Amino acid sequence: MSDVRNVIIIGSGPAGYTAALYTARASLQPLVFEGAVTAGGALMNTTEVENFPGFRDGIMGPDLMDNMRAQAERFGAELVPDDVVSVDLSGEIKTVTDTAGTVHRAKSVIVTTGSQHRKLGLPNEDALSGRGVSWCATCDGFFFKDQDIAVVGGGDTAMEEATFLSRFAKSVTIIHRRDTLRASKAMQDRAIADPKISFAWHSEVAQIHGEQKLTGLTLRNTKTSETSVLPVTGLFIAVGHDPRTELFKGELDLDDEGYLKVDAPSTRTNLTGVFAAGDVVDHTYRQAITAAGTGCSAALDAERYLAALA
Ligand code: FAD
Repeated sequence: MSDVRNVIIIGSGPAGYTAALYTARASLQPLVFEGAVTAGGALMNTTEVENFPGFRDGIMGPDLMDNMRAQAERFGAELVPDDVVSVDLSGEIKTVTDTAGTVHRAKSVIVTTGSQHRKLGLPNEDALSGRGVSWCATCDGFFFKDQDIAVVGGGDTAMEEATFLSRFAKSVTIIHRRDTLRASKAMQDRAIADPKISFAWHSEVAQIHGEQKLTGLTLRNTKTSETSVLPVTGLFIAVGHDPRTELFKGELDLDDEGYLKVDAPSTRTNLTGVFAAGDVVDHTYRQAITAAGTGCSAALDAERYLAALA
């Protein structure tokens, strides 16, 4: 059994590394579980990030995350490229178990496990991520000025992304499996009224084409199985996100969509000494800067909690 740490951070995206930086600079010697496969978080899977403040010419996603990691480490954060497989967060001393079965103890825990965007599950989807395939219009829309692009999905996010993208794109095709949308009436009306937006009803993406960059899609009609080619250079996948909260079910309060609930604007969860930040909490903004911002808030909340214990 390990010594009792001040704080354990679970997750290593912008939220986790920012929480690590702040708690390390507050001399709390955080232990950070970065994840076994995806240390560094969602931005490890992208190319250029142009909207993280401080980088006038943009920065590659993995470079941004390496910088954040090194900055946290410089102040004494202990970083472990491993997964947490179980937690017990209810007592005054929290326990966190890693993949080797080692139990780590801490007075406080910050959860920053992020969320996973749902994929279509097609070959080429990952290989062309950042090369035409995207899950975030706010992040990448600007790269698609005057281009023909497609959005997959039928909910509010898909309509919002399509409407946003039509500001830049030459045309936007919304690909949807049915001929009715799940999106709210207002969002539908806006998309339908937009002259740049058209709909491929009863359609699903069957193939994603391109070597270095996306060149087009094969669509399959969900009623007739007929296929057709849609030549687009951008594909925005808006079929939902799954917050990584499996580990916390039964301990921490989750909302209807499975995101961790916090006592906003603080990052306090329903359990004292347990804080949460970043995309695991946020279904609204989902940006690196907002994740980093709430990671900072979680570190300050944990710091104050620990100070009150002393
Ligand atoms: P994440 O970055 O998702 O990190 C969570 C981390 O927790 C992961 O490393 C995961 O492995 C780890 N983890 C999960 N479970 C465990 C566990 N049990 N044990 C240990 N570790 C665990 N935003 C922008 O602002 N600008 C952009 O240009 C931009 N581009 C993007 C491009 C892509 C392809 C994607 C997918 C997202 C992009 N985003 C962008 C969004 C941005 O990446 C996210 O909003 C941000 O990374 C969320 O940060 P986070 O720290 O909450 O979670």
